[in-house]
Amino acid sequence: MKIICGMLGHETNTFSAEMCDFARWSQTGWFHGEEVIRGYEGKGDYISGMIDVARKRNIELIPTMSVLDAGPMLLRETVDYAMGMILEVIEAHKDEIDGICFALHGAGCAEGIECLEKHTLEKMRGIVGDELPIMITLDLHANMSDAVVNLTNGMFGIKQYPHTDKFEAGQLAMECLANLIEKKASYYTAHVKLPLLVPAPLGNTYTGPMKKFTDYSLAFREEKSLVDATVLHGFPYADRPQAGMSIITVSDKSQEHADETARELARFVWENRWDTVGESLSAKEAVDRALEIAGVPGEGYVVINETSDNPGGGTPCDGTGLLKELLSCQGVKSILAYIHDEEIALAAHAAGVGGKVSGLLGAKADTLHGEPIEIKDAYVAALSDGHCIYNTPVLYKQKICYGKSARLTIGSVDVVVCENLAQQTFDNMPFVMVGADIDQYDLVCVKSSNHFRAWFESRAKGIVAADPPGIQTANLLQLPFKNVIRPAFPLDPDMELKL
Ligand SMILES: [Zn+2]
Repeated sequence: MKIICGMLGHETNTFSAEMCDFARWSQTGWFHGEEVIRGYEGKGDYISGMIDVARKRNIELIPTMSVLDAGPMLLRETVDYAMGMILEVIEAHKDEIDGICFALHGAGCAEGIECLEKHTLEKMRGIVGDELPIMITLDLHANMSDAVVNLTNGMFGIKQYPHTDKFEAGQLAMECLANLIEKKASYYTAHVKLPLLVPAPLGNTYTGPMKKFTDYSLAFREEKSLVDATVLHGFPYADRPQAGMSIITVSDKSQEHADETARELARFVWENRWDTVGESLSAKEAVDRALEIAGVPGEGYVVINETSDNPGGGTPCDGTGLLKELLSCQGVKSILAYIHDEEIALAAHAAGVGGKVSGLLGAKADTLHGEPIEIKDAYVAALSDGHCIYNTPVLYKQKICYGKSARLTIGSVDVVVCENLAQQTFDNMPFVMVGADIDQYDLVCVKSSNHFRAWFESRAKGIVAADPPGIQTANLLQLPFKNVIRPAFPLDPDMELKL
């Protein structure tokens, strides 16, 4: 059996003032051809799960390319470039392949392309026709539509945020595809769209309110003997008609079974929709609350996560809202990782360890995430080349490079500055690489909404989310929506829905 595989994913924040070229899309790395297998085998990602099943079932994989990240709206030429690499391989092997197993994201948008997933699948179908089976995996933040569902033979979304179950989704997709090709099973997919916009900062499925939906869907899958059942949170920061929550069920019994269970699961979610609404604290409110927790007897640091500038949701990673508040709290030992500011990172490297740096720090990408902070004679405490290997289970053992990085000391505040990456803080490595022992700080601050929890939750004394102005705010009422279908909860809190 021969199966085409690969990964093409983008979580597009359409409120960004920037545009995303291929260099930005692939900032955390990308693979082409056989590199895809070498890059992902033995890791914990979607493709790793697909490879795992392929090895066990003696399936020959034909890899295309892989790239996945969040960011601003994709340029059309960028999509065409990546798509060209995929379609070239499919075209070359179209007469010998038995199926396609692909990791998509579900919230991609580009210039002139409303839905990257629909565009991708239509391009694939254009070469292989309607009969060849195609199965896909989806991110929890996928904005699904019937159009995408109808282009596939099965879709398998992850359930956890932090995204620690990508491997299992990849395994399931490849397993079902192989079963379908060998005619061991038939699969029926159902999709119910809910007019429900869930702020990503409230999406924590391990200890937050969304745990209820994940736990329920996993038990529901067992109880109803479904192949899969997923409550996709959706990604409201991609302001498109397909934005919002979706319920996906996959049955190996009948279409009716899939449809009925999807509606039942959708009813449960809708009845509990108020669980998707939460608080939004200013930077000052968050710091005050964190200091209260720090003041309670007990060991450990308190984490403040600046969720409104979470580059994992397409923000610039140079917002100054939280940093400004930390600098006003001199005497409190705090550290923030990190601000993406090439100019200051390179100035720190030019000054050297023990040197001083002056200039404007942060808030250079746009005017939506605070104002640049003027630093004078900030002390260069440590430097790094930025090469790391992730500790987080979300991207376990994968390589990453933050570029030339520095730890600057400004009074009692340490701030990590990096040259070339707008990526969220997943684990302790952005601190370790610049010699910081986070156990020695009162407040440890990160730019992330939830993925940081996979590493920090069990280690921190407490966690507080800060939500200064930014395009991944927890308060959706602050965003200038134009394209989402109304009414939608919570923008229209009194709306009614019959399911
Ligand atoms: Zn996601």
